[in-house]
Amino acid sequence: MFVLDSHCDTPSQILRLRDLSLDNDHAHVDFPKLRRGGVDGAFFALYVPASLKGAEAEAYALKLLENLRRSVSENAGTAAFACSAEDALANKAKGLFSVFMGLENGSPIGEDIEKLMEFYNAGVRYVTLCHSADNQICDSCAPGTDTWNGLSPFGRKLVHRMNEIGMLVDVSHISDKSFYDVMKYSRVPVAATHSCCRSLASHPRNMTDDMIRILASNDGVIQINFYPVFLDDGFRHVLAASGLQEEGEKIEAAFIADPSDEFKRKAWYEIVDSLRGLPRPSYKRVVDHIDHAVEIVGIDHVGIGSDFDGIEVTPEGLEDVSKLGLVFEEMKARGYSDSDIEKVSGGNFLRLLDTVQGCKIL
Ligand SMILES: [Zn+2]
Repeated sequence: MFVLDSHCDTPSQILRLRDLSLDNDHAHVDFPKLRRGGVDGAFFALYVPASLKGAEAEAYALKLLENLRRSVSENAGTAAFACSAEDALANKAKGLFSVFMGLENGSPIGEDIEKLMEFYNAGVRYVTLCHSADNQICDSCAPGTDTWNGLSPFGRKLVHRMNEIGMLVDVSHISDKSFYDVMKYSRVPVAATHSCCRSLASHPRNMTDDMIRILASNDGVIQINFYPVFLDDGFRHVLAASGLQEEGEKIEAAFIADPSDEFKRKAWYEIVDSLRGLPRPSYKRVVDHIDHAVEIVGIDHVGIGSDFDGIEVTPEGLEDVSKLGLVFEEMKARGYSDSDIEKVSGGNFLRLLDTVQGCKIL
């Protein structure tokens, strides 16, 4: 069994001075927790905020990349980069954790298709086309915008080029119309690296049954997100009523601007503790979403993409990545076989990477 989480925002936390070699307080992901959680690899997202564009976005992504490289080289006895399923299995055989890279938000590529190649050459193996706002590639799922009514003309070219070079297209965060466009233009399977099921929770970030069916019919994979707001409408309302999210965003922004300030760090920890005090959905709700996706498209098209380190609150029982095994225990208790669990825990996503890379023509 290879346990692979297809989406963690850990590089953003390195910018907040997290030392991944330590068992950090208030952290979702670091190497000791990954080890305790039995995790073999994860995609660490180079997340670029939607407010950044062009050269500024590129500089930000490169800063994340440089910091992640430094962190991996400082932990050379524990972790190594991986670009393929083969790399990941070789790392595992050496007892090393595999750090894959994804680019979350294609803004840094600008309108220069060759820039995509620079990220590919740096080891990035998927691009989440946009984040919380429309960009030069496509519309996001944020309501009321629709700049392009789906993919932009450049977005179509980008999907084509990603297919050619064997880079995975990530459809999380994009609008429904953008998704249907990607499915029309992509010659190879794609992934939703961190998305839930809209049938179970109505957030527009989640995928409808129709979208999940189309994704799977093209041999793609939906990787279930652990964010309670995407898992459960009840929690979404509780959070909105608490006012903690707006307050947390301000405190977090101050902390991000000055991560060496211990008072700002402490204020952020306090907000995180208050969020933990809200009535959160259980980790079993993650398995409800897995169940639903499996029920409509089968076991070969579902996985996990926690969004750890990118979410301010987690399900009850899944406070950090060291608890990940609970999800697989719950699957077992619900009757999934070991081979089913192997597929969901990482097998399906590694197969998808192999397929996309095997289809490259350049
Ligand atoms: Zn995201």
